[in-house]
Amino acid sequence: MNELRYASEVKNSSAYKAISADIDRGEFSHAYFILSEDKDAVDTLFALIAMKAYCPTACGSCAECHKVLVRSKPDVKYLAEGNENFTVAEMAEVTEDAGMTAFEGGRKLYFFKNFENLADAPQNKLLKTLEEPFDKVHFILSAASTATVLPTVLSRVKQVTLAAFPTEEIKSALIKSGVPAERAERGARLSQGSLTRAREFAVDEDFARHVEEVTDLLTELKSTADVYRFLKEGIFTKERIERTLSMFEVVFHSVMSYHLGLPLLLEEKKQAIAEIAGAYSLAAVGEATEVILTCRARLKANCNATNVADYLLLKLPEVKYKCRSSLA
Ligand SMILES: [Zn+2]
Repeated sequence: MNELRYASEVKNSSAYKAISADIDRGEFSHAYFILSEDKDAVDTLFALIAMKAYCPTACGSCAECHKVLVRSKPDVKYLAEGNENFTVAEMAEVTEDAGMTAFEGGRKLYFFKNFENLADAPQNKLLKTLEEPFDKVHFILSAASTATVLPTVLSRVKQVTLAAFPTEEIKSALIKSGVPAERAERGARLSQGSLTRAREFAVDEDFARHVEEVTDLLTELKSTADVYRFLKEGIFTKERIERTLSMFEVVFHSVMSYHLGLPLLLEEKKQAIAEIAGAYSLAAVGEATEVILTCRARLKANCNATNVADYLLLKLPEVKYKCRSSLA
C-alpha cells in the first residue's frame, strides 16, 4: 500500500473534518476553497478528500483509495500544479470536460493547487461553471492567500482554512515519516505550524551553515554595491533558494522577537540576531517579510532563481534605510 504522508495529522484537521462531514451528510459542495500555504499538508488533504469521495472511511487500503493514491482514477484530476501558468484555453478544456459523463459513473473531482497564481481571465472562465455547477462535479481549489483570487470566484466556493499544526504534532509526524528525532525537533521548532516548512528545516543537510550564510549576508549586506558578491553565493541556486527564503523568514522572525523581547526561534544565534536587529527596525522587518513573500510568489510564477535573488538583495538594503530614516 502507498503510505500517505501526514495522513493522521491532516485527517485530524478541522478543514478535513468539515469537508468529510459535508460528504457524510450528502452535502458535498460543488466547490471548496482551501486556504493554506502548507503545500505538503494540502497535497495530503487533496488525497484524503478524493479518498473520502469514493470510500466512506477514506480507509487508505481499499481498491478505490489505492487508485486515488497512485493517481490512477480517471475522474480525479489535478490541475495547475507546480509552476504551470494556466491559460484560458486550458480552463475551457477543464470546464468542457466537467460537463461530460464520468468515466466510472460516479463523482468527478478537479483539484487546483496554487490557485492564486491563475490570471483573472482563466479564473473568469471557471466562474460560469461555479455558478451553474454540474451534478456530481466538484472543484477543490487551494491557495496561500485570497489576494489575487476574484471576489466573484470566492463568493461561489465554500471557504475552508487549513489551520497551523501544533508543534508537538509536527514533530511526531516528521518522526513517523522517517526523520531522525533530533532533526524532527528542530524542524518542528522552526515550522511556525507548517509541515512543509518543518520538513525543509529538518532535512536541510547543512542547516547550521545555512543559518550562518543567511545571518552573515544580513550583517554584511550594507548597500546595493554588495549585491553582486552575494548573488554568486550558493544559497541562491535553483535547488536551494526556496529553503533559503524560509531561512530568511525564520531569521526575520527571530529579529522581530528580539525587538519585542520574546524568545527567539534561533536562540543559538542570539548575537548575530542582535546585530541584525540593530540594522533592521521593527518596521523594516515587517517590510522585509513582505519582500520575501513577493519572492515566493515570483518563484511560483516561474521567475528564475537569479532574478528572484536579485530582487531580494536590492530590496533588503532599501527597506532597511527607508525604515531607518522614518524613525529619525
Ligand atoms: Zn478506502
